[in-house]
Amino acid sequence: MKKISVIIPKSVPVLHPDSDTREKEKRPRSWQAELSHAVTDVAELLRLTGNRIEDILPVNPKALQFPLRVPHPYIQRIVPGDINDPLLRQVLPVSLEAEQKPGYITDPLDEASTNPQPGIIHKYAGRVLLILTGSCAINCRYCFRRHFAYKENRNSKKQWLRALDYIRNDQSITEVIYSGGDPLLNSDKNLDYLTRAIADISHVKRLRIHTRLPVVIPQRITPGLLKSLAGNRLKIAMVVHINHHNEIDKRVKTALKPLRDHDITLLNQSVLLKGINDRAALLTRLSEALYDAGVLPYYLHLLDKVDGAAHFDISQTEAQKLVGRIAANLPGYLVPKLVTETPGQVAKTPLLPIL
Ligand SMILES: *Cc1c(COP(=O)(O)O)cnc(C)c1O
Ligand code: SF4
Repeated sequence: MKKISVIIPKSVPVLHPDSDTREKEKRPRSWQAELSHAVTDVAELLRLTGNRIEDILPVNPKALQFPLRVPHPYIQRIVPGDINDPLLRQVLPVSLEAEQKPGYITDPLDEASTNPQPGIIHKYAGRVLLILTGSCAINCRYCFRRHFAYKENRNSKKQWLRALDYIRNDQSITEVIYSGGDPLLNSDKNLDYLTRAIADISHVKRLRIHTRLPVVIPQRITPGLLKSLAGNRLKIAMVVHINHHNEIDKRVKTALKPLRDHDITLLNQSVLLKGINDRAALLTRLSEALYDAGVLPYYLHLLDKVDGAAHFDISQTEAQKLVGRIAANLPGYLVPKLVTETPGQVAKTPLLPIL
C-alpha cells in the first residue's frame, strides 16, 4: 500500500485497542455530548476508522495550522480500513497542507474588507451574513475560513445587539443569514432570542441558516430548535453542506424530515474536491441522495484558493465539464449551480456547464 503522510503529533498517545469508543447506534448522546466527545487526535481517528498508524508517514504537527475535529456520528459513516475514504479525507490532516502554492492565500474572499463590524459580513445586496460563532463541530481541511480572524468575530451578547442595530438601520436588508463557523453551535435558547429579535424587524423577510451540524451531529435538530424556527413569521431556508452521498445516512434523513414538515426549505451546498467528489457518477449520486432526503442541490463551489487546500483544487474547465456530464444525467432541478467567488463581485460568479 502506498503510504500517505499524515500530520500527527510526535508524542503519539498510548492507544488502548480494547476501549473502543466507537459509538453504538442505539442510544445517541445529546448533541452537546457528541460535541465534547468529538475526536481531536489523529491517532484516535485512524484507529476508529480501522486504519493502522503504521501505514501512514507521520509528519511534524507544526504543519497543522488548523486542528483536527470530528464527531463520532460522522466517523461512523467512514468505511473502515480505507485511508482514501472520501469522508475521512475531508477531515484528515495530510502533509500536502503544508505545501505553499502561489495564488493560495489566507483570506481568499477578502472577507476582512466586507466585515463592517465584528460578526457581520455584508457583501451582497439585501443579504447580511452573521457570524454567530467562530467554531465548527467538524474541521474540514479545505475550509476557506481556516485562517479567518475568528477571535475578533467571537460571539457575545453585545455583538449580537450591535448586529441587530445594523440590520434595523438598513432597510435594504431583506434576508439574514446565520453563518459561522457553525451557527447551530449556539444554544436553542440563544438562537431563539436572536431569531425573535430579527422577526421583529419588519423589513427582514427571510432567514437562512448555513450549517453542517444536521449532517455531522444529526441530533442537533432538537424539538426546541424546530419550535423556535417554526414559531415566527420569517420564511426559513436551511442550507446544509454535504459533499458525498455517504454523508447521508438514516440518522441524517431522520433529522432533516421534521425541518421539511415545518416548511423549512432545505438546500445543499457542496465544494468540488479532488479525490472526494470529482467524478460525474459521484455527483449524480449525491444529487439523487439529497433529493431522497428532501434536499435540493443549490451550489457546487469551486474551491476557494485558501492556503493549505491546493491539493483539493479542480480546474475551472474540468469543473464545468463535470457539471455538463451530470446535467446530461439528471433533471435540471438536481443539477447544482457551479459557482466561484471573486472578491468585489456583486454575487457569486456562475460557471456554465460545458456540455
Ligand atoms: C454566499 C454568500 C451569501 C449568499 O449568497 P446567495 O447567492 O444568496 O446564496 C451572502 N453573503 C456572503 C458573504 C456569502 O458568501
Ligand atoms: S463546516 Fe463549513 S465552515 Fe465549518 S470547517 Fe467545514 S467548511 Fe468550514
